[in-house]
Amino acid sequence: MPYRAEYIWIDGQKPTAKLRSKTRVLPDGAELPIWGFDGSSTEQAPGDASDCVLRPVKVVPDPIRGGDDVLVLCEVLNTDMTPHESNTRSKAVEVYEKYKDQEPWFGMEQEYTFFKDGRPHGWPIGGFPAPQGGYYCGIGADEIWGRDVVEAHTEACIEAGLAISGTNAEVMIGQWEFQIGPVDTVEIGDSIWLARWLLYRIAEDFEISATLDPKPVKGDWNGAGMHTNFSTNAMRESWDPIIEACEALGKKAQEQVKYYGAGIEDRLTGLHETAPWSEYSYGVSDRGASVRIPWQVGVDKKGYIEDRRPNANADPYVVATMITDTVCSALAGEGDV
Ligand code: ADP
Ligand code: MN
Ligand code: MN
Ligand code: MN
Repeated sequence: MPYRAEYIWIDGQKPTAKLRSKTRVLPDGAELPIWGFDGSSTEQAPGDASDCVLRPVKVVPDPIRGGDDVLVLCEVLNTDMTPHESNTRSKAVEVYEKYKDQEPWFGMEQEYTFFKDGRPHGWPIGGFPAPQGGYYCGIGADEIWGRDVVEAHTEACIEAGLAISGTNAEVMIGQWEFQIGPVDTVEIGDSIWLARWLLYRIAEDFEISATLDPKPVKGDWNGAGMHTNFSTNAMRESWDPIIEACEALGKKAQEQVKYYGAGIEDRLTGLHETAPWSEYSYGVSDRGASVRIPWQVGVDKKGYIEDRRPNANADPYVVATMITDTVCSALAGEGDV
């Protein structure tokens, strides 16, 4: 029996890239070939030299089609086999190779918002829902919309072998979160992008769309982030490296804010459990800080830190590359490199 491989890649759209995919039917037992696509339709190439190359980098069982079918996450290359400029994974691989002896681990909390009929799922026509307060980790049909999609998505992630570690309903109506990790600098990006693809694909069958818009509703409603939890072997063993990591991120906070996703100024306002984007702070238990040291980590004097700044629409390869580079170079005593 021939089998189906869904080739998935990240396009060149700016300021926020999006996922694309297409199906290849392959003979029984055939290996996954390198493939190509029309880069002029994805903002990755001009029309007169439109070919871009898809190279498989991670293959998982396809939990939607089942059987021998697979999902194939790809990186985009130019026709001379160099990384395409939109290929942020290649830089994550480079930085990970440099610092992998420090064993960097990431856990990302991907928040997102369901939309149906042009408004957040659960939002009444022409009016407003009850203000925020009861929806976070809520229960019951007056508070929760889209749980069937969330459950199907979680199952799919597990079947695909992604390191999903939990889910919860969020503060704004129709908003949810899933967590992936802890896994390394490259694996976190691969897993988050695949989990995003599964979310969109599964929600399709429910005629619901999911958006990573960091501020889907203006005003007094929470935005959507992608809190990024990070540790190295030294941070998992003692306190000083935890503080060094927080300080290292602080030194580069202003120049690095651009890596945290388009529209960061609209979400990091200082309200709704955020720190203002223009100021850097860290603290134990502090959900109003840029970087939080979880309470338990403060007690154990070892563990990990939570960078609360990344937007829901940030590129996980970019965030993981930047944090690995900044913190691991500091912990390696490389100074301001
Ligand atoms: P919050 O309390 O901020 O909502 P969550 O429970 O949603 O936190 O997410 C915590 C994330 O941190 C999970 O993805 C988990 O895998 C990850 N994590 C746990 N320990 C570590 C560690 N040592 N290094 C990096 N990430 C970690
Ligand atoms: Mn969380
Ligand atoms: Mn959250
Ligand atoms: Mn968090």
